[in-house]
Amino acid sequence: MGERTYFDWNATAPLRDEARIAMVQALGLTGNASSVHAEGRAVRRLVEEARTHVASLVGTDAKNVTFTGGATEANMMALTPAFEVGGRRSLRDRLFVSAIEHPSVLSGGRFAAEDVEHLPVNGEGVVDLVAVARALQRAKRPLVSVMLANNETGAIQPISQIAEIVRAASGVLHVDAVQGPGRIDCDIAALGADLMSISSHKLGGPQGVGALVSRGDIHIAEPLIKGGGQERGQRAGTENVAAIAGFGAAAAAAKLAEFERVVLLRRELEEGITAIAPNAVIFAAGAPRLPNTTLFAVPGLKAETAIIAFDLNGIAVSSGAACSSGKVQTSSVLAAMGVDSGMTRGAIRISLGWNTTKDEVHHFLKTWKVLAGSLLKEKRGIAA
Ligand code: PMP
Repeated sequence: MGERTYFDWNATAPLRDEARIAMVQALGLTGNASSVHAEGRAVRRLVEEARTHVASLVGTDAKNVTFTGGATEANMMALTPAFEVGGRRSLRDRLFVSAIEHPSVLSGGRFAAEDVEHLPVNGEGVVDLVAVARALQRAKRPLVSVMLANNETGAIQPISQIAEIVRAASGVLHVDAVQGPGRIDCDIAALGADLMSISSHKLGGPQGVGALVSRGDIHIAEPLIKGGGQERGQRAGTENVAAIAGFGAAAAAAKLAEFERVVLLRRELEEGITAIAPNAVIFAAGAPRLPNTTLFAVPGLKAETAIIAFDLNGIAVSSGAACSSGKVQTSSVLAAMGVDSGMTRGAIRISLGWNTTKDEVHHFLKTWKVLAGSLLKEKRGIAA
Protein backbone atom coordinates (compact mmCIF):
# COMPACT_ATOMS: atom_id res chain seq x y z
CA MET A 1 0.00 0.00 0.00
CA GLY A 2 1.35 3.44 -0.90
CA GLU A 3 1.13 6.40 1.45
CA ARG A 4 -2.33 6.49 2.97
CA THR A 5 -4.37 9.16 4.70
CA TYR A 6 -6.34 7.54 7.49
CA PHE A 7 -9.49 9.56 8.30
CA ASP A 8 -11.51 6.84 10.03
CA TRP A 9 -10.48 7.23 13.67
CA ASN A 10 -14.03 6.78 14.98
CA ALA A 11 -13.95 3.23 13.58
CA THR A 12 -10.59 2.54 15.19
CA ALA A 13 -7.43 4.47 16.05
CA PRO A 14 -3.88 3.34 15.27
CA LEU A 15 -2.12 1.55 18.10
CA ARG A 16 -0.05 3.94 20.21
CA ASP A 17 3.65 3.10 20.65
CA GLU A 18 3.11 3.08 24.41
CA ALA A 19 0.40 0.43 24.02
CA ARG A 20 2.51 -1.73 21.71
CA ILE A 21 5.45 -1.65 24.14
CA ALA A 22 3.22 -2.53 27.12
CA MET A 23 1.64 -5.40 25.19
CA VAL A 24 4.95 -6.90 24.09
CA GLN A 25 6.21 -6.67 27.67
CA ALA A 26 3.05 -8.41 28.96
CA LEU A 27 3.34 -11.16 26.36
CA GLY A 28 6.80 -11.90 27.72
CA LEU A 29 5.43 -12.84 31.14
CA THR A 30 4.14 -16.26 32.14
CA GLY A 31 1.51 -16.47 34.84
CA ASN A 32 -2.20 -16.31 35.53
CA ALA A 33 -3.27 -13.10 37.27
CA SER A 34 -5.30 -15.21 39.75
CA SER A 35 -2.29 -17.31 40.85
CA VAL A 36 -0.65 -16.48 44.18
CA HIS A 37 2.94 -17.30 43.14
CA ALA A 38 5.43 -14.66 42.03
CA GLU A 39 4.65 -15.19 38.33
CA GLY A 40 0.94 -14.72 38.94
CA ARG A 41 1.55 -11.65 41.08
CA ALA A 42 3.72 -10.03 38.39
CA VAL A 43 0.93 -10.42 35.86
CA ARG A 44 -1.65 -9.21 38.38
CA ARG A 45 0.44 -6.08 38.86
CA LEU A 46 0.15 -5.26 35.13
CA VAL A 47 -3.62 -5.69 35.22
CA GLU A 48 -3.96 -3.46 38.28
CA GLU A 49 -1.64 -0.78 36.87
CA ALA A 50 -3.79 -0.70 33.75
CA ARG A 51 -6.93 -0.48 35.88
CA THR A 52 -5.54 2.59 37.65
CA HIS A 53 -4.80 4.33 34.32
CA VAL A 54 -8.23 3.56 32.91
CA ALA A 55 -9.90 4.70 36.14
CA SER A 56 -8.11 8.04 36.12
CA LEU A 57 -9.13 8.63 32.48
CA VAL A 58 -12.78 8.70 33.62
CA GLY A 59 -12.28 10.11 37.13
CA THR A 60 -13.11 7.08 39.23
CA ASP A 61 -11.35 4.62 41.55
CA ALA A 62 -9.64 1.55 40.13
CA LYS A 63 -12.05 -0.73 42.00
CA ASN A 64 -14.90 0.64 39.85
CA VAL A 65 -13.38 -0.57 36.56
CA THR A 66 -14.35 -3.99 35.16
CA PHE A 67 -12.39 -5.08 32.10
CA THR A 68 -14.42 -6.61 29.28
CA GLY A 69 -13.81 -7.87 25.76
CA GLY A 70 -14.73 -4.44 24.33
CA ALA A 71 -17.49 -1.86 24.60
CA THR A 72 -20.08 -4.06 22.91
CA GLU A 73 -19.72 -6.48 25.81
CA ALA A 74 -19.69 -3.63 28.36
CA ASN A 75 -22.95 -2.33 26.86
CA MET A 76 -24.50 -5.80 26.99
CA MET A 77 -23.41 -6.13 30.63
CA ALA A 78 -24.85 -2.77 31.60
CA LEU A 79 -28.23 -3.20 29.94
CA THR A 80 -29.60 -5.59 32.52
CA PRO A 81 -32.73 -5.46 34.67
CA ALA A 82 -30.82 -6.52 37.82
CA PHE A 83 -28.35 -4.30 39.71
CA GLU A 84 -27.02 -4.12 43.23
CA VAL A 85 -26.94 -0.63 44.65
CA GLY A 86 -25.31 -0.12 48.03
CA GLY A 87 -25.41 -3.91 48.55
CA ARG A 88 -29.19 -4.17 47.91
CA ARG A 89 -30.85 -5.60 44.83
CA SER A 90 -32.30 -2.93 42.56
CA LEU A 91 -34.52 -4.12 39.71
CA ARG A 92 -35.24 -2.12 36.54
CA ASP A 93 -38.47 -2.78 34.65
CA ARG A 94 -37.99 -0.66 31.52
CA LEU A 95 -35.07 0.39 29.32
CA PHE A 96 -34.99 3.76 27.56
CA VAL A 97 -32.33 4.22 24.89
CA SER A 98 -31.79 7.15 22.57
CA ALA A 99 -32.67 6.56 18.92
CA ILE A 100 -29.07 7.25 17.82
CA GLU A 101 -27.30 4.62 19.93
CA HIS A 102 -24.76 2.12 18.65
CA PRO A 103 -26.40 -1.19 17.62
CA SER A 104 -25.03 -2.84 20.78
CA VAL A 105 -27.27 -0.52 22.84
CA LEU A 106 -30.20 -0.41 20.41
CA SER A 107 -30.33 -4.22 20.71
CA GLY A 108 -31.66 -3.71 24.26
CA GLY A 109 -29.16 -5.96 26.04
CA ARG A 110 -30.91 -8.31 28.43
CA PHE A 111 -34.32 -6.63 28.21
CA ALA A 112 -37.23 -8.10 26.26
CA ALA A 113 -37.93 -6.10 23.09
CA GLU A 114 -41.32 -4.92 24.41
CA ASP A 115 -39.61 -3.37 27.45
CA VAL A 116 -37.32 -1.15 25.38
CA GLU A 117 -38.36 2.37 24.39
CA HIS A 118 -36.55 4.82 22.09
CA LEU A 119 -35.95 8.45 23.05
CA PRO A 120 -36.08 10.90 20.11
CA VAL A 121 -33.38 13.35 19.01
CA ASN A 122 -33.76 16.75 17.38
CA GLY A 123 -32.60 17.71 13.88
CA GLU A 124 -29.05 18.27 15.19
CA GLY A 125 -28.88 14.74 16.54
CA VAL A 126 -29.16 15.77 20.19
CA VAL A 127 -31.45 13.91 22.59
CA ASP A 128 -34.65 15.83 23.29
CA LEU A 129 -34.65 16.60 27.03
CA VAL A 130 -38.37 17.34 27.13
CA ALA A 131 -39.09 13.93 25.61
CA VAL A 132 -36.80 12.26 28.17
CA ALA A 133 -38.61 13.96 31.04
CA ARG A 134 -41.99 13.02 29.58
CA ALA A 135 -41.01 9.37 29.01
CA LEU A 136 -39.60 8.98 32.51
CA GLN A 137 -42.71 10.47 34.16
CA ARG A 138 -44.52 7.25 33.22
CA ALA A 139 -41.67 4.94 34.28
CA LYS A 140 -41.47 3.16 37.60
CA ARG A 141 -37.94 1.79 37.71
CA PRO A 142 -36.20 2.99 34.55
CA LEU A 143 -32.75 2.20 33.19
CA VAL A 144 -31.69 4.89 30.72
CA SER A 145 -28.85 4.54 28.20
CA VAL A 146 -27.65 7.57 26.25
CA MET A 147 -24.29 7.85 24.52
CA LEU A 148 -21.81 10.60 25.35
CA ALA A 149 -21.05 11.45 21.73
CA ASN A 150 -22.44 9.97 18.57
CA ASN A 151 -19.99 7.93 16.51
CA GLU A 152 -21.42 9.11 13.16
CA THR A 153 -22.15 12.83 13.66
CA GLY A 154 -19.93 13.49 16.69
CA ALA A 155 -22.86 15.25 18.43
CA ILE A 156 -22.21 15.46 22.17
CA GLN A 157 -25.25 14.63 24.28
CA PRO A 158 -26.40 16.67 27.31
CA ILE A 159 -25.53 13.88 29.74
CA SER A 160 -25.43 15.87 32.96
CA GLN A 161 -28.91 17.28 32.25
CA ILE A 162 -30.19 13.81 31.39
CA ALA A 163 -28.62 12.55 34.63
CA GLU A 164 -30.68 15.06 36.63
CA ILE A 165 -33.90 13.89 34.98
CA VAL A 166 -32.98 10.24 35.52
CA ARG A 167 -32.10 10.85 39.18
CA ALA A 168 -35.43 12.63 39.78
CA ALA A 169 -37.17 9.52 38.34
CA SER A 170 -35.12 7.20 40.63
CA GLY A 171 -33.58 5.74 37.52
CA VAL A 172 -30.16 4.34 36.66
CA LEU A 173 -28.13 6.03 33.90
CA HIS A 174 -25.73 4.15 31.63
CA VAL A 175 -23.58 6.10 29.19
CA ASP A 176 -21.85 4.58 26.17
CA ALA A 177 -18.82 6.89 26.29
CA VAL A 178 -16.80 5.05 23.63
CA GLN A 179 -16.08 8.07 21.43
CA GLY A 180 -15.21 10.39 24.31
CA PRO A 181 -12.08 9.45 26.27
CA GLY A 182 -8.98 11.34 25.22
CA ARG A 183 -11.08 13.70 23.08
CA ILE A 184 -13.49 15.35 25.52
CA ASP A 185 -13.82 15.38 29.29
CA CYS A 186 -15.24 12.07 30.52
CA ASP A 187 -15.34 12.45 34.30
CA ILE A 188 -18.05 10.04 35.42
CA ALA A 189 -19.02 12.12 38.47
CA ALA A 190 -19.22 15.39 36.49
CA LEU A 191 -21.38 13.65 33.89
CA GLY A 192 -23.58 12.17 36.61
CA ALA A 193 -23.57 8.69 35.05
CA ASP A 194 -23.98 5.54 37.13
CA LEU A 195 -22.26 3.31 34.58
CA MET A 196 -20.09 4.04 31.56
CA SER A 197 -18.79 1.84 28.72
CA ILE A 198 -15.41 2.57 27.17
CA SER A 199 -13.34 0.89 24.48
CA SER A 200 -9.56 0.63 24.19
CA HIS A 201 -9.21 0.78 20.41
CA LYS A 202 -10.75 4.23 20.02
CA LEU A 203 -7.97 5.79 22.06
CA GLY A 204 -4.96 3.97 20.68
CA GLY A 205 -5.10 0.71 22.59
CA PRO A 206 -5.70 -2.73 21.08
CA GLN A 207 -9.06 -3.96 19.79
CA GLY A 208 -11.12 -6.49 21.76
CA VAL A 209 -10.77 -4.94 25.21
CA GLY A 210 -12.85 -2.33 27.00
CA ALA A 211 -14.35 -1.62 30.36
CA LEU A 212 -17.57 -1.08 32.19
CA VAL A 213 -16.94 1.67 34.72
CA SER A 214 -19.20 2.48 37.66
CA ARG A 215 -19.50 5.52 39.88
CA GLY A 216 -18.98 3.30 42.92
CA ASP A 217 -21.72 1.50 44.77
CA ILE A 218 -23.55 0.03 41.78
CA HIS A 219 -22.86 -3.47 40.44
CA ILE A 220 -24.31 -5.89 37.92
CA ALA A 221 -26.33 -8.44 39.92
CA GLU A 222 -26.18 -11.16 37.25
CA PRO A 223 -22.86 -11.26 35.35
CA LEU A 224 -23.15 -11.64 31.60
CA ILE A 225 -20.28 -14.14 31.61
CA LYS A 226 -20.37 -16.52 34.57
CA GLY A 227 -17.53 -18.76 35.68
CA GLY A 228 -14.51 -18.04 37.87
CA GLY A 229 -14.63 -15.01 40.12
CA GLN A 230 -12.39 -12.76 38.02
CA GLU A 231 -13.05 -9.02 37.93
CA ARG A 232 -14.66 -9.18 41.40
CA GLY A 233 -17.25 -11.60 40.14
CA GLN A 234 -18.49 -9.16 37.47
CA ARG A 235 -16.85 -10.82 34.45
CA ALA A 236 -15.50 -14.35 34.47
CA GLY A 237 -12.59 -15.67 32.42
CA THR A 238 -8.82 -15.42 32.59
CA GLU A 239 -7.89 -11.82 31.86
CA ASN A 240 -6.51 -10.87 28.42
CA VAL A 241 -3.46 -9.40 30.13
CA ALA A 242 -1.59 -8.12 27.07
CA ALA A 243 -4.70 -6.35 25.77
CA ILE A 244 -5.46 -4.90 29.20
CA ALA A 245 -1.87 -3.68 29.57
CA GLY A 246 -2.10 -2.02 26.13
CA PHE A 247 -5.41 -0.41 27.06
CA GLY A 248 -3.89 0.94 30.27
CA ALA A 249 -0.87 2.36 28.45
CA ALA A 250 -3.11 4.01 25.84
CA ALA A 251 -5.31 5.48 28.58
CA ALA A 252 -2.23 6.93 30.30
CA ALA A 253 -0.94 8.39 27.02
CA ALA A 254 -4.23 9.95 25.86
CA LYS A 255 -4.35 13.69 26.50
CA LEU A 256 -7.18 16.11 25.71
CA ALA A 257 -4.56 18.61 24.51
CA GLU A 258 -3.91 16.35 21.48
CA PHE A 259 -7.29 17.40 20.12
CA GLU A 260 -6.87 21.19 20.47
CA ARG A 261 -4.94 21.08 17.20
CA VAL A 262 -7.35 18.60 15.63
CA VAL A 263 -10.35 20.90 16.03
CA LEU A 264 -8.52 23.54 13.94
CA LEU A 265 -7.77 20.98 11.22
CA ARG A 266 -11.42 19.95 11.26
CA ARG A 267 -12.48 23.58 10.77
CA GLU A 268 -10.16 23.92 7.76
CA LEU A 269 -11.51 20.66 6.37
CA GLU A 270 -15.16 21.69 6.71
CA GLU A 271 -14.54 25.14 5.23
CA GLY A 272 -12.80 23.45 2.31
CA ILE A 273 -15.56 20.91 1.76
CA THR A 274 -18.26 23.55 1.60
CA ALA A 275 -16.16 25.97 -0.48
CA ILE A 276 -15.80 23.23 -3.13
CA ALA A 277 -19.42 22.03 -2.86
CA PRO A 278 -21.52 24.91 -1.49
CA ASN A 279 -24.60 22.69 -1.21
CA ALA A 280 -22.81 20.19 1.06
CA VAL A 281 -24.61 19.66 4.36
CA ILE A 282 -22.57 19.07 7.49
CA PHE A 283 -24.75 17.15 9.91
CA ALA A 284 -25.07 18.24 13.55
CA ALA A 285 -23.05 21.37 12.71
CA GLY A 286 -25.20 23.34 15.15
CA ALA A 287 -24.60 20.95 18.06
CA PRO A 288 -21.60 20.67 20.35
CA ARG A 289 -19.48 18.07 18.59
CA LEU A 290 -16.41 15.91 19.09
CA PRO A 291 -13.37 17.86 17.88
CA ASN A 292 -12.45 15.26 15.24
CA THR A 293 -15.68 14.27 13.48
CA THR A 294 -17.41 15.54 10.31
CA LEU A 295 -20.38 13.82 8.72
CA PHE A 296 -21.46 15.40 5.46
CA ALA A 297 -23.48 14.76 2.33
CA VAL A 298 -24.01 16.46 -1.00
CA PRO A 299 -27.34 16.04 -2.78
CA GLY A 300 -26.90 13.60 -5.66
CA LEU A 301 -23.63 12.11 -4.38
CA LYS A 302 -23.71 8.45 -3.34
CA ALA A 303 -21.54 7.58 -0.33
CA GLU A 304 -20.39 4.24 -1.77
CA THR A 305 -19.13 5.85 -4.97
CA ALA A 306 -17.33 8.63 -3.10
CA ILE A 307 -15.77 6.28 -0.53
CA ILE A 308 -14.40 3.99 -3.23
CA ALA A 309 -13.06 7.00 -5.14
CA PHE A 310 -11.39 8.38 -1.99
CA ASP A 311 -9.93 4.94 -1.26
CA LEU A 312 -8.44 4.72 -4.76
CA ASN A 313 -6.83 8.10 -4.03
CA GLY A 314 -5.25 6.79 -0.82
CA ILE A 315 -7.82 8.19 1.62
CA ALA A 316 -9.77 6.07 4.13
CA VAL A 317 -13.14 7.55 5.07
CA SER A 318 -16.36 5.78 5.90
CA SER A 319 -20.08 6.04 5.38
CA GLY A 320 -21.39 6.61 8.88
CA ALA A 321 -20.82 3.72 11.25
CA ALA A 322 -18.06 1.25 10.39
CA CYS A 323 -20.22 -1.64 11.57
CA SER A 324 -22.67 -0.98 8.79
CA SER A 325 -20.44 0.52 6.13
CA GLY A 326 -19.43 -2.89 4.71
CA LYS A 327 -23.12 -3.39 4.01
CA VAL A 328 -23.67 0.27 3.02
CA GLN A 329 -26.97 0.62 4.83
CA THR A 330 -28.67 3.95 5.25
CA SER A 331 -27.80 5.54 8.57
CA SER A 332 -30.37 5.01 11.33
CA VAL A 333 -28.79 7.98 13.13
CA LEU A 334 -29.59 10.35 10.27
CA ALA A 335 -33.04 8.81 9.90
CA ALA A 336 -33.68 9.53 13.60
CA MET A 337 -32.61 13.14 12.95
CA GLY A 338 -35.29 13.42 10.26
CA VAL A 339 -32.81 13.65 7.36
CA ASP A 340 -34.42 12.55 4.09
CA SER A 341 -33.37 9.18 2.70
CA GLY A 342 -31.66 10.67 -0.38
CA MET A 343 -29.20 12.47 1.90
CA THR A 344 -28.75 9.59 4.40
CA ARG A 345 -27.46 7.43 1.52
CA GLY A 346 -24.85 10.04 0.71
CA ALA A 347 -23.38 10.58 4.16
CA ILE A 348 -19.59 10.43 4.36
CA ARG A 349 -17.85 10.39 7.74
CA ILE A 350 -14.41 11.85 8.22
CA SER A 351 -12.81 11.33 11.60
CA LEU A 352 -9.39 12.71 12.45
CA GLY A 353 -6.91 11.81 15.17
CA TRP A 354 -3.99 13.00 17.23
CA ASN A 355 -1.42 12.54 14.45
CA THR A 356 -3.51 13.93 11.57
CA THR A 357 -1.47 16.54 9.69
CA LYS A 358 -2.31 19.71 7.76
CA ASP A 359 -0.82 18.05 4.67
CA GLU A 360 -3.32 15.20 4.95
CA VAL A 361 -6.19 17.69 5.19
CA HIS A 362 -4.87 19.46 2.09
CA HIS A 363 -4.51 16.15 0.24
CA PHE A 364 -8.12 15.33 1.16
CA LEU A 365 -9.38 18.70 -0.10
CA LYS A 366 -7.41 18.46 -3.35
CA THR A 367 -8.90 15.02 -3.93
CA TRP A 368 -12.38 16.22 -2.97
CA LYS A 369 -12.15 19.04 -5.49
CA VAL A 370 -11.41 16.58 -8.30
CA LEU A 371 -13.99 14.02 -7.14
CA ALA A 372 -16.72 16.56 -6.54
CA GLY A 373 -16.06 17.92 -10.00
CA SER A 374 -16.31 14.54 -11.71
CA LEU A 375 -18.98 12.88 -9.54
CA LEU A 376 -21.23 15.90 -9.45
CA LYS A 377 -20.47 17.41 -12.87
CA GLU A 378 -24.04 17.86 -13.83
CA LYS A 379 -25.13 19.25 -10.43
CA ARG A 380 -25.37 22.94 -9.85
CA GLY A 381 -23.41 24.78 -7.17
CA ILE A 382 -20.11 22.89 -7.51
CA ALA A 383 -17.11 25.14 -7.78
CA ALA A 384 -14.76 22.41 -8.97
N1 PMP B 1 -20.40 2.23 21.04
C1 PMP B 1 -19.97 3.14 20.15
C2 PMP B 1 -20.52 4.53 20.20
C3 PMP B 1 -19.02 2.79 19.19
O1 PMP B 1 -18.59 3.70 18.31
C4 PMP B 1 -18.51 1.46 19.18
C5 PMP B 1 -17.46 1.04 18.17
N2 PMP B 1 -17.91 1.17 16.83
C6 PMP B 1 -18.98 0.55 20.14
C7 PMP B 1 -19.92 0.98 21.04
C8 PMP B 1 -18.48 -0.86 20.20
O2 PMP B 1 -17.19 -0.90 20.75
P1 PMP B 1 -16.26 -2.19 20.57
O3 PMP B 1 -15.71 -2.11 19.19
O4 PMP B 1 -15.19 -2.04 21.62
O5 PMP B 1 -17.09 -3.40 20.82
